[in-house]
Formats: sequence, C-alpha cells, structure tokens
Amino acid sequence: MVEIEFLGGVRSVTGSKFLVRGKNISILVECGQYQGLKELRQRNWEPFPIDPGTVDAVLISHAHLDHCGLLPKLVREGFDGKIHCTSDTARLAAIILADAAKMQMEDAEYAARKGFTEHKIPLPLFDEDDATETIALLTPHPFHQEVEIAPEAFVTFHRAAHILGSSFVELRVEGKRILFSGDLGRKNHPLLSDPDPIPHREFDALLIESTYGDRTHRPTGDALEDVINRTIKRGGTVLIPAFAVDRTEVILHRLKELILTGAIANVPIFVDSPMALASLDVYRDAFENDALDIDFKIAAEGDPFSADFYQAARSVEASKAIADSRIPSIIVSASGMATGGRVLHHLARMLPDSRNTIILVGYQSIGTRGRALADGAATLKLFGSKVEVRAEISSVHEFSVHADSQEAISWLSTTTTKPGQIFIVHGEADVGTLFQNLIKEKLGWDSTIPNRNQRYPI
Ligand SMILES: [Zn+2]
Repeated sequence: MVEIEFLGGVRSVTGSKFLVRGKNISILVECGQYQGLKELRQRNWEPFPIDPGTVDAVLISHAHLDHCGLLPKLVREGFDGKIHCTSDTARLAAIILADAAKMQMEDAEYAARKGFTEHKIPLPLFDEDDATETIALLTPHPFHQEVEIAPEAFVTFHRAAHILGSSFVELRVEGKRILFSGDLGRKNHPLLSDPDPIPHREFDALLIESTYGDRTHRPTGDALEDVINRTIKRGGTVLIPAFAVDRTEVILHRLKELILTGAIANVPIFVDSPMALASLDVYRDAFENDALDIDFKIAAEGDPFSADFYQAARSVEASKAIADSRIPSIIVSASGMATGGRVLHHLARMLPDSRNTIILVGYQSIGTRGRALADGAATLKLFGSKVEVRAEISSVHEFSVHADSQEAISWLSTTTTKPGQIFIVHGEADVGTLFQNLIKEKLGWDSTIPNRNQRYPI
C-alpha cells in the first residue's frame, strides 16, 4: 500500500513537505522552510515527524526556499540519501542553501549580541557545514526523462515555467502514479518556456498548488514605467525588493526593454544582492549553454542579462556607495518580501522620504514586512526601531510567476483522465476552499484540502 502524509505546505503557502510511503520505501517530496508569521516560522524548529535517516530519497520541484530551505536541517538530523532535481534547480539551490545557512548564522549571532532570544545560546537552524553537505547530495536530472531513484520508484521532471529549472514532478512508486504540481508558472513568462501539459497517463493522485486560487491576474496595479517616471520626476529613487532568483532576472529584462524603447529615463540601475548576482550568473550560463535542455523561449540574440545597463554591487562597500548616491536611481535588492538581506538597509533609509517609491512585485506572505507595506502600514520595524512610511508604496502585478486560478484550471484540464484523488496544497486556508469550489464548478471534480500531518492511502 502506498500512502501520502502532508507534513507541510498545507493551508499555508510555505513549508512544503509531502512524504510518500510504500511497503519498502519512503520518499520526501519537497523540504521547504516556513516563512512569514512567527507561529509558522517556529515550525521550522520542530523535530521532523519522521526519522530523517529512514527517508530513502528526496525530490525537489524547484529552488525556492519554501520548497528546499529545510534540506540542511534534514541532513543535519541524519538524511544521507540523494536529493533529486533538475540540473538548473541543483545549481540555484546550491546558491540559495549556502545563503540561507549564512543568514541563519548571522541571525543567531545577532540574537546572541542583542540578548533577545529564549535560547540561552542562540542557535542557527543549520550552519554552513550542513548546507555544504546538502549541496553534495543534490543529484541533477534532465527534464522529461524517467529515472529510477530506488527499487520500484521512478521520477520524471516536467517543465513548470515558474523559475529556471522549475518542474512539476511525476512519481511512480510501487505501481502508483502521483503528480506534484510544485509551483506552477504561467504561459507569459518573458524568458522561460511554457509549462508542459499534464502527461497523458492515469494518475492515482494529483497535488495542485493554490497560491492564487482565489484570483485572476487581471492587468491591475500600476504600470512599472508610470511608477518609475513619476518617482524620477520628483527626484526620488525607486527600490524594488525582488526575489533573488528569477524575479531579479525578469525585472532586469523588463527595465532593459523600457530603457531601450525610451519609456523610462536612463537612470543608474543597481543590483544589490550577492545572491541575485550569483543567480544571474546561472541564468546567463544556462541561456548560453543549455542547448540540449533549453528552458528559455526567447531567441539567443545577445545576452538578455548583460551587465552593460546596470551596476552590480557585490561587496558591502559597493552597497553602501549606493546609499550615498544622491541622484534618482533604481535599486533592485533582495529579499523579495523584505524578510532579510540588504534590502532592509535601503528600506530604513528610503521609507521616510516621500519622494521615493517602493515597488512590490511578488507575492507577499502574511507576517512579512512586504505584506505590511502592501497593506498600508504607517510604520515598519527595522533593526529594532520603528521607521515611518512616507515613501510611495506601489504594487505592480505584471511579474507574477504563479499561475492564477484560471491558469491552474486550464493546466488541470490538459489531463485526458481525471486523477484518482486531487489534493489542494500550497495556499492560504480560505483561498484553498475557493479554489476547491472552482475546480468543482469548472471540471466537476471533487478534491480534498488536507490538514498538516494527515495521511491518505493512494
Ligand atoms: Zn516557488
């Protein structure tokens, strides 16, 4: 008998973790960190409900922290099998996990210095050695090729068009076939190839994400060029907190277009995030070299990420120099939800000045500073003090890399056979219910919204 246990990523958009158990095998699909609200983040510290040493293999759909960010903890606590993913996911996950370990260690040190922790000696969730060990276990595979990962267990990665290397994952285990949507991308990604349709096979179970299960991405919000132009006109600077992986690449691609067409003035553009710069290198390299496994839809006409129109701030000194600049500019910095990273320093400096603008371009989880800004907070807590929000806050929706409800429904309808069971995951609780109703209405299918730690036979 095969069963699936929902360890995380249910009734929440972070912390994805699904355990598939067969008679002789145990496979963990995703091992993501919880982000956002403190009560969610605290779950990262709970012991795994399974002994990591008994897990035979791990599958990762893509390199975002909420899908792979708890891997070093799994390894620290005894997992030593292979972590299967696509080759670009392996390269991006290596960057993300090393950075996550660094941030864990810095946070623990900071908490120790300031003394605001319940632990006697503040500890990181994992350290750089754990990340290094984890990275060594990443095992890359090409798209569309079924590989045997254990006796009677096979995996195939399909293109999801969410970020470079992102996949939805087909798992065949002890005669059962399960499909994990991962994070579903969209057909209009400016760089990546479209998502693959669901393979024409009979699935015993399908897990579908529901991040935007309650809405469609109508062209609402501000147009990027309008916000930039009015900010520059009043002598302000634009700050774009952006996820280091993919969002930075897409935004730079768009900014380049806007400059080349004269839609915005040729002001200095700074990329201030070591992780974003490292991920840009992976994108550039993939663009040039992934001929056999191409994940890009744009023609190879020159380097879309060439550094000739932006300045890269690799060192702390370069980052500080941006802060000293007094002329209007555009700063792209991470993290995307302002939960950490260099963007915090820019926010602390820029928020009190009404000439500046902060442009939010991605999903902002509940409990993050990004969400507080999107919801109109008058002050923001940064580095232990309250900072007044006088800058303009603008949400630009054109950069979403998650399928909306209609796009998810059309992806589901690419299947030729109704899956045996449908589970709705990776969405906030009320959104899941709306999406469940929509699936019933549009496709006539019943589906289940599992609770955490609930098990279902497949
Ligand atoms: Zn993602």
